[in-house]
Amino acid sequence: MPVELLGKSAAELRALAASLGEPAYRGAQIYHALYAERRFELAAMSNLPVAFRARLAAEASVALPRIAKRFHSTDGSIRYLLALECIAPAAGERPTDIEAVYMPEEGRQTICISTQAGCPVNCHFCLTAQLGLVRNLTAGEIVGQVLVALEDNRAKLAPQTNVVLMGQGEPLLNYEPVMETVRLLLDPGGVGLSAKHVTLSTSGVVPGMDRLAQEKVRPKLAVSLNASSDEQRNAIMPINRKYPLGALLEACRRYPLRPWERLTFEYVLLAGFNDQPEDARRVAKLVANLRAKVNLIPWNPCELPYQAPAPERIEEFRRILTEKGVPAFVRYSRGQDIMAACGQLALLETPTPARVAQPS
Ligand code: SAH
Ligand code: SF4
Repeated sequence: MPVELLGKSAAELRALAASLGEPAYRGAQIYHALYAERRFELAAMSNLPVAFRARLAAEASVALPRIAKRFHSTDGSIRYLLALECIAPAAGERPTDIEAVYMPEEGRQTICISTQAGCPVNCHFCLTAQLGLVRNLTAGEIVGQVLVALEDNRAKLAPQTNVVLMGQGEPLLNYEPVMETVRLLLDPGGVGLSAKHVTLSTSGVVPGMDRLAQEKVRPKLAVSLNASSDEQRNAIMPINRKYPLGALLEACRRYPLRPWERLTFEYVLLAGFNDQPEDARRVAKLVANLRAKVNLIPWNPCELPYQAPAPERIEEFRRILTEKGVPAFVRYSRGQDIMAACGQLALLETPTPARVAQPS
């Protein structure tokens, strides 16, 4: 089996070069080629001596996720169906499929990546949950999604790249590979993104949040609140029985924010369930005294028994939070017409009209 290079740190690549009888700095050159220059053909790494290139090509591989399909939204975003062949499937077995979404905007692009194939958390309003957990992804498979999306759009990239770990999966339940990825993304000598531009979203895995708090290099943190009471959260997010609101908000309070940083709470608005004025007032109380903002995400329609909220409810919810001193923003997801919006990533080939129906 060739050794897989994608996902390896600079130190690991230096050790690999040394183990192949080369000076360690050759490993640093490979690191730069992979993550900073996005050059993936080992035989074409012209900064390496010819003999070493040949040896590498024989003994190592760079398994970028393969683009199996692109879905183009009318809003310019692209959903990628990616086939992962990094872990060679057994004979007759299909490679694992995952999804990533590329969203161009004025002056920047945002790439939404998956951290697991499927998700074990089982939030009732989320279509990804229907897949269950297929498997954890490796660091190479996670960072590979960013590289592949950047590469596929190389000619039209804006200066700034944002990455959100908000695709399939619960990032804090695949902790080490996720953190290895974050280090590659945030390393100025690697992919070179700013910590201000990388956001990890969690359904509220408290031990993972505490662990993240200890990291020297870490992304911004978003917490999927989604409910205004334990009773309500229990009904849509089974994880709340393990880490109820009290414990979750305690973890938020002890989370060490950097001077420039605010915590983000995400709140999916489900019509008639958690979108009432009293919910907004309870949310304001829950997050009081935290340096935080709330992103309101109107539920994206899919074949699950929920309804998108009415525009007046969304606006009133936002107004109440703002009046109570909690910065609140409405985040309309992009790519609804291609099943690329929050909570819609479930490997679906084509959206049915029912799935993309707008609220009346
Ligand atoms: N698993 C992580 C990150 C991925 S989900 C988490 O749950 O935080 C990203 C966001 O999409 C979460 O805030 C989640 O609550 C939200 N979401 C899930 N299904 C949705 C849907 N159908 N409509 C709108 N948002 C949804
Ligand atoms: Fe998993 Fe997040 Fe979907 Fe919940 S909302 S099932 S944690 S992907």
